[in-house]
Parts: sequence; C-alpha cells; structure tokens
Amino acid sequence: MILAGQLVSSKEVRAAQVRVDGPTIVEVGERLGTPDVTFGDECLIFAGMGDIHIHARDDVSEKETHKEDFRTAAAAAIHGGVVHVADMPNNPAAPIDDASYAAKQRHLERRNVPICITLYAGIGPGTRPLSRPVPYKAYMGPSVGDLYFSTLAQLDETLSHYRGCDVSFHCEDPELLEAHKGEPTHERRRPPQCEVSATRFALAMIEKYDLTGKLCHYSVKEGLPLIRAARERGLRVTCEVTPHHLYFDESRIDETNRGLMQMNPPLRQPADRAAMLEALRDGTLDYLATDHAPHTLAEKAKGVSGQPHLDTYGPFVTWLILREKFTAERMAAVCCENPGEFVNRYTSPRRFGRIEPGYAASLTVLNLARPTSVRREDLRTKCGWSPFEGVTFPGSVEAVYIDGQRVS
Ligand SMILES: [Zn+2]
Repeated sequence: MILAGQLVSSKEVRAAQVRVDGPTIVEVGERLGTPDVTFGDECLIFAGMGDIHIHARDDVSEKETHKEDFRTAAAAAIHGGVVHVADMPNNPAAPIDDASYAAKQRHLERRNVPICITLYAGIGPGTRPLSRPVPYKAYMGPSVGDLYFSTLAQLDETLSHYRGCDVSFHCEDPELLEAHKGEPTHERRRPPQCEVSATRFALAMIEKYDLTGKLCHYSVKEGLPLIRAARERGLRVTCEVTPHHLYFDESRIDETNRGLMQMNPPLRQPADRAAMLEALRDGTLDYLATDHAPHTLAEKAKGVSGQPHLDTYGPFVTWLILREKFTAERMAAVCCENPGEFVNRYTSPRRFGRIEPGYAASLTVLNLARPTSVRREDLRTKCGWSPFEGVTFPGSVEAVYIDGQRVS
C-alpha cells in the first residue's frame, strides 16, 4: 500500500509517499508509485502519536474497571489519534515485582487491544528492580493508590537499589504536602513549592544513582531553570507536560467546576501556564503526555483527582498548532519522536515515532481545516466525560493507521 500527503518529522514537512508492507514502513520517497490513499494539503501525516502517561485502571483485580479498562482506554486513544501508550502502575494489584508485573502483562494480553501498551512498574517502600528491563514510576507523595513514600529519606534508600534504571517521578514533596494539609483549597494544599522541592530531590536522585530520569506532568515555572541547569550538568532527564496544565489555570476554577478541575499536581497560575507553553516550545519539556486519569463523575464529585484526555489528544494538538502557533515539526518531536524513543527500548522489535523504513506502519493524520466540537456522546473513555466538553478545537483526527491497517 502507498499513502501520499504532507509528511511531518521534527525536521521538516514535505510532500512525499510512504510504502507500507504488512505492519511495517518499507520505503519513503517522492515518487514510489500510484498512491492507494492521498491526503490533501489540509492534512498532516504524523508517525503514530504516543501518550506515555496514562492510567487505564485495569489490572488482575478488576477493582477499578467501572471507570476504564484496557479496551476502552484503547478505543479512546484511537479516537484521539494515539497509537501507543504507557500505563502507570498505581493499581490495586500494583505491578512492583516480577510476579505482579507478569500478571498485569498477561491480563493486558487477554484484553487483546489494538494499540501497543507499555506497562510501568511501581517503586514503593522496600521494592527492588525487576529482572527484565521496564520503565519505573516513583510516587513521592500520596496521590491515587498506595504506592507512595512518607519521607524522602525512605525513597532515597529504595532508589539506591535502582542504579542505572529508567525512573519517572511524580514530583510533589510528601513532607511539604503534610505541612499544607490544613489549607482551604486543593491548590493551596499542594502549592508550587511542593513541586519545586521535589524537583530538586528528583534531580539529586537522578545524579546520585545515575538514573535515566523523567519528571511527570510538569506544572511550575520556578522549576524549569532547575531542569535546564541539570541538563547542562549532563544529567539524563526528560519532562512531560499535560493538556490541562497547558490549557487551564487557576483562574478557570469556579464553584461549578472545582471538582472536575482537581488533579495532582493542581492547576497553577496563568504565568505558570504561559511558562509551560514556552518550555514546550523551547525544548525544556519533551512530551505531550496526558496523565489520562479516568474517574467517574460521581467519584469526581467526591474529590478524586485527575482528568481524562485520551479522546481529545489529536484535536488538542491542532489547538497547539493553529492557536498557540507551535510548528508541526515541534509537534512531531513531542507527540511522536520523543514518546517513541521512550518506549522503543521496551516494544522491540516494533519501533514507534518516525516515518522511516523499519518503523511501525502506525500513523496519525490530522486535518487542520475540520474543527472538532467535544461532545460527551462522542467520547470512548468509559468514565464518560471530558474537561473539554463544549470546547471546539480548530482541527481533527482525519485517520489513524495501526500496523498498516486503517482503524479510524
Ligand atoms: Zn499519573
């Protein structure tokens, strides 16, 4: 099969063709033959987009599958133009050692989902590395689930066993969270200094134990210079940012939406939001990763933190391009190439992130001329709502290919 149109990489946008054989891209060039499918100039063809921070809420316990499972998460991902995801480990049956990780992996295989799902393993008090290479997630402070440390000294001791590993950090200092727990609002109970302090600590751990580090859902302006300085010192550290920290800030919270706008870390000030957009543009932030956290509306009304974002991933990218003036090339870096590099160590021999021979024939085609109005009835996430309901994004997902098959 030959597809033709505007191909996007982090270096350029060019009119070209892609030849696909089975699940793999075999050739890219200007005149490969008569195309089977041609996308017009209003469309951009990206390598399949990847969301490396989601919570599918599915594990062997099936205690949380009323809100999402691997199948509904995969359907929401495809709806949003996402072809691979990485799933966080804060499950009731948390994957923290070889046996529990293998059990979650087998459970995922039984679900038989059309997208590629990479599983993180959790780092909690007293855990040790698995015998196979996996990405790890360390929760510093209390969030959703039981995988957290109450002191940073306890986390330091545990991390000393993970030398050289690939560790993602949820940056909120548990001691400072405890100190602010009497404040009147969610935002003030988890203030910016919790994240800044935790950033200093995470960077120190990355340096001390020679980790390949990733900071999750970055949200505070004051932390960005610390990250830049750490990279200048040679630390291997990358950073995610979510759609909610790029689109909303504290000024958008009112008495009608307070519960829906609650997540960890919380929404910040308008200056922080502007700084996240700038940092995503200048390369300080590396991934558009949603922290897709499906909770039902009934749970949200009781103060559970998190927002679902898989359904709207691609339309949100068109907002970044058309409204916030990001280049298509930068979007290819943060939605395709960098997420691909993150998971390719674990998905081998399948490789994601580039439209090049040998990579998966998984593609995300965005249409910049056809807007998307986000409506509850169109969502595929089982939790059944989106913080973007009523929003019209300027573009849409035109087509999604997975392993050479058109799935949307
Ligand atoms: Zn998360």
